[in-house]
Amino acid sequence: MSGLEFDIIRRYFDVPGLRAEPFIHSVNLGIGDDCALLEVKPGEELAISTDTLVAGVHFPDDSRSFDIAQRALAANLSDLAAMGARPLGFTLSISLPNADEDWLRGFSRGLSVCAQHFMIPLIGGDTTRGPTSITITVLGAVHKGLAMRRDQAELGDLIYVTGTLGDAALALDLIQGRQHTDDSHYFLQRFYKPEPPLEFAQALVGLAKTAIDISDGLVADLGHIAHASGLAAELFVDNLPLSPQALQLMEREALLRKALTGGDDYELCFTLAQEKAIEVEHLSQELGVKCTQVGRMVFGDPGVSCRRRLGTLFQLESEGYEHFQ
Ligand code: ADP
Ligand code: MG
Repeated sequence: MSGLEFDIIRRYFDVPGLRAEPFIHSVNLGIGDDCALLEVKPGEELAISTDTLVAGVHFPDDSRSFDIAQRALAANLSDLAAMGARPLGFTLSISLPNADEDWLRGFSRGLSVCAQHFMIPLIGGDTTRGPTSITITVLGAVHKGLAMRRDQAELGDLIYVTGTLGDAALALDLIQGRQHTDDSHYFLQRFYKPEPPLEFAQALVGLAKTAIDISDGLVADLGHIAHASGLAAELFVDNLPLSPQALQLMEREALLRKALTGGDDYELCFTLAQEKAIEVEHLSQELGVKCTQVGRMVFGDPGVSCRRRLGTLFQLESEGYEHFQ
């Protein structure tokens, strides 16, 4: 490691806002050694997920580094939420063309704000020179055998989503100039500061059978549950939760399409047996997380169909966002 890398780590990553508090976290050794050491409780499984964000592909080139950091960490935490895992710590592999101090300061601050909000410490990583790319690996713990996988949905299960859908896709339209509004604040927050429902997801463990986070669009992501579980999923398009802000900006029908196929919302989609519905409603009120029943698992070829209130089919041109398609 060069002196410059060491300096970057010391100034921007091995900092109080990102460090583990030994009494709160299960981190026995953090940044500074060859490996970090985490304490894992008996009866738990380790949940691990990693994601790479590349400048120009996953975020606009001119995004503020503060926003990029928040979004990168929150998007990764969304995967922990999707399994119902409790966050333990994360690592950061970062590649940058140069050591721009302003950029690094903003990045470190954005990362700290998000890490403290979700109470997850930075425990290690790697720092290299190259095109801007950020890889975060999150580690979490979940009760053994109870993680919300994709392959456990059963016939008749109800399908739910948290929050509202389509806001982040609308944000991207604003950022890229396809839509205009005088007040873009709400949408930019939804895009750059996703709020994966981590606490709610942990409470769903043992209640919901399957869960997935909505990163590529509801139809595409629910499709993964359908295929893994060998069932068809039927969506009631008219039930989809839309934000009042989005409804002000866009006509309802067009917005429904965004809600079905737009990515980046980082809300949760989960399935559960009908008799658990009342428990989920309680949980939703208790934790203040909006939950909407949007469909049902039915018999049929694995895949997702969308229906209107009177049962007619709702046709989609494309299912969701795929990289390098
Ligand atoms: P090694 O040579 O063992 O790979 P490094 O010299 O790359 O170690 O890093 C030194 C220490 O700093 C390690 O504990 C590593 O985990 C940590 N580290 C390096 N880069 C980062 C980063 N971007 N964020 C957090 N920790 C980092
Ligand atoms: Mg290294």
